[in-house]
Amino acid sequence: MRIAVGGIHTECSTYSPVLMAGEDFRVLRDADLLGAEYFDFLDAAGIEHVPLLHARAVPGGPVLRSTYEAFKAEFLERLQVALPLDGLYLAMHGAINVEGMDDAEGDWISAARTVVGPGCPIAASYDLHGNVSQRIIDQLDIFAAYRTAPHIDVRETMVRAWSMLVETLRTGNRPGVAWAKVPVLLPGECTSTEDEPARSIYLNLPAFDAKPGILDANLMIGYVWADEPRATACAVVTGTDRQAASKAAEEIARQYWNARENFGFGPVTGPLEEMLDIAASATTSPVILADSADNPTGGGVGDRADVLRALIARNWHSALLAGITDRPAVEVCFAAGEGASLTLRIGASLDPASVPAEVTAKVLRLDDSGAAADRQAVVEVGGITIVLAARRRPYHNIEDFRRLGLDPKSVRLLVVKSGYLSPELAPIANPNLMALTDGVVNQDIANLASHRRIRPVFPLDRGFDYVPAATLSARWRE
Ligand SMILES: [Zn+2]
Repeated sequence: MRIAVGGIHTECSTYSPVLMAGEDFRVLRDADLLGAEYFDFLDAAGIEHVPLLHARAVPGGPVLRSTYEAFKAEFLERLQVALPLDGLYLAMHGAINVEGMDDAEGDWISAARTVVGPGCPIAASYDLHGNVSQRIIDQLDIFAAYRTAPHIDVRETMVRAWSMLVETLRTGNRPGVAWAKVPVLLPGECTSTEDEPARSIYLNLPAFDAKPGILDANLMIGYVWADEPRATACAVVTGTDRQAASKAAEEIARQYWNARENFGFGPVTGPLEEMLDIAASATTSPVILADSADNPTGGGVGDRADVLRALIARNWHSALLAGITDRPAVEVCFAAGEGASLTLRIGASLDPASVPAEVTAKVLRLDDSGAAADRQAVVEVGGITIVLAARRRPYHNIEDFRRLGLDPKSVRLLVVKSGYLSPELAPIANPNLMALTDGVVNQDIANLASHRRIRPVFPLDRGFDYVPAATLSARWRE
């Protein structure tokens, strides 16, 4: 049994002016792919896994057309060489936006289908923040998406999709996919599965799996910061019975629609100055403040200095800000060396829409792992410690801090560019605050510029009716 494995995985805010290029992606090929984090389950007796190409990037702006086309061409070439195949497994995110193209996943998956032909089952795993289209559904036999946000079931979801594929090949019974759109577009920060009502809706999905004719039931929140026609929430169900799968998709869609007014932010959330007032009077620590609109893991640029400027204006003492993407500032720090004092311009290095901070800083530490793009500098401005990164990246894991000799637990205020906190930071937040800052992934959803989305969609529109209506994949309609 031969199963080929590959895909492309990122999330793109169409509000970001910072396009993604090839060097923003981690590209896995050959044995590196099969041994990589999350993919190491691809090892089962009697199955030959054929690694193709998997490209993954930290979320950001739209992907350069040439970058996407180059990845796609290599993926298809490897797929062609891998023939004949019994199955194809695609590890996708679902929210890529490519320059000048709608529905890049639809393009990728359709192209893969053309190569493998109609007889080869294709399974895809998705992030629940992906935007699905009929074109995508039409080419798939199997679909599974994360059921947690923050995402702690990445590997589990991949295993679900892959296991259904293996079962299909072993039994010869090919399943199909039904889906039902829901005209709701909410940010991940309001739909965390740690909080109600998302928590209950997601906890109920396994009960759908257990029904006759259903294999795997999913709710896609979709990606709200992509102004594109396909942007929508939807229920997607893999099953062996068309009617049962359609009915399940419609029921899940209805549950989400009926709950739409009940979604809200998990932590205490408000304007930046209000959150800093709360942080200033906090008697516990560390207060972890999320700069939500500049969160790189949601597609934010990550280069904004708004919170830093607010802290300096307040003459704040004892804060750690991690991090701000600013390659020129990092290079200036490296040129000056550890211990140097210098004037520094921090922020707005990628997106000129924000205002930088002009500061006098002391270089505390330089981190150089070899590549200029991975360099980091830790600087101090008054009582504020700031991590500067040469590339766009989050600081969401304890190891990100430990590597720099920093202890996020020991500070009074930790500022991170994040929406809901990561699984490693959430448990130490005492308390967690979320600031409604400015940026390309801001939380003012009802007022997002919307030129290309299909309307009506809640909460951009209100007061319209909706009746769930499932559609089958083209392969299941045949
Ligand atoms: Zn996600």
